[in-house]
Amino acid sequence: MPWIDTHCHLDAAEFDADRDMVRQLAKTLGVKTCVIPAVMASHFDKVRFLAHRHADVYALGIHPLYTPQASDADLTTLDKHLHLHHEDLRLVAVGEIGLDGFVPEVNTPEAIAKQTDFFEAQLQLAQRHKLPVILHVRRSADGLLKGLRRFPVVGGIAHAFNGSQQQAQMFIEMGFKLGFGGAMTYDRATKLRALATELPLSALVLETDAPDIPPHWLYTTAQDREKGQAQGRNSPAELPRIASVLADLRRISLAELAAATSANARQALPRLQSPL
Ligand SMILES: [Zn+2]
Repeated sequence: MPWIDTHCHLDAAEFDADRDMVRQLAKTLGVKTCVIPAVMASHFDKVRFLAHRHADVYALGIHPLYTPQASDADLTTLDKHLHLHHEDLRLVAVGEIGLDGFVPEVNTPEAIAKQTDFFEAQLQLAQRHKLPVILHVRRSADGLLKGLRRFPVVGGIAHAFNGSQQQAQMFIEMGFKLGFGGAMTYDRATKLRALATELPLSALVLETDAPDIPPHWLYTTAQDREKGQAQGRNSPAELPRIASVLADLRRISLAELAAATSANARQALPRLQSPL
C-alpha cells in the first residue's frame, strides 16, 4: 500500500543518529514519499539534500515558531532559494509557514505582529513563485484565512488541522486539503475525530509531523516523563498505523484510504504528479 506522509520533519535533530534507517523503515512499510517542510532558512539546504537522497519532496519556508529569531535577510534567502531551485520538481511548496496562537513566546503583541509579517511576506513569495503552501494551524485558523484572503495562493495543505467544521469548509473552498495525523489516534480527541470522520474524503491528507505529535501508542504521560522517560519520538514509519485509525473511523478499507489520500496530496501539491 503506497502512502504519502505529507508532513515529516526528517531534518530534525531527533533523527541525527539514525535518519537513514528511519526513512528506510518507513519505506519498507509502504511510505513511498515524505514531504519534508523546512522550518528555518539555515535548514533549506538540508531538506533539499534529504529529499534528493531518499526520493522524497520538500518545501521551503520559515515556521511561525521560528520567527522571533528570523530576519528580513531570511526572507531574501527564501526568495533566492525558490528562484534558484524552481526547476527542481522535488520542491513542491512554500512551507512550513503560518500562525501559532498557542505558544506564549510568539503571542506577545510584537511577536504576533512579526508572525503576521512573515506569514504575509511568504504568501506573497508563494504567489510570485506559483507554489502552494503548507500551513501551520494552531488556534489560528481565522488569522490564516484572513491572510489567505488578502494574498490568495493556489492552495496547499493546512497541516495538523484543528479548527471547526466551518473553518475546514473555508480552507477547502480556498483549494486546501486538511492534514490529519497522530492527534486523531486519541479516544479523547472527539472533536478532531468527528472532523476526520465527517469531512469529505476528498479533503483529507495523512501526515505524521514526525518527530512531533506522537500517536497514542508512543505517548509518554507527564507522570512517566517526571520519572525520566522521554516523550516518544514519532516517525514516518507510524503513518500506516495512523492511517488504519482513520480507515476504522470512516469504515473504509485501507486500500481506498491510501488511493484517496494519495490522490488528494497530488492535487494539493501538483508537483507530486510529475515523474520524479
Ligand atoms: Zn511541522
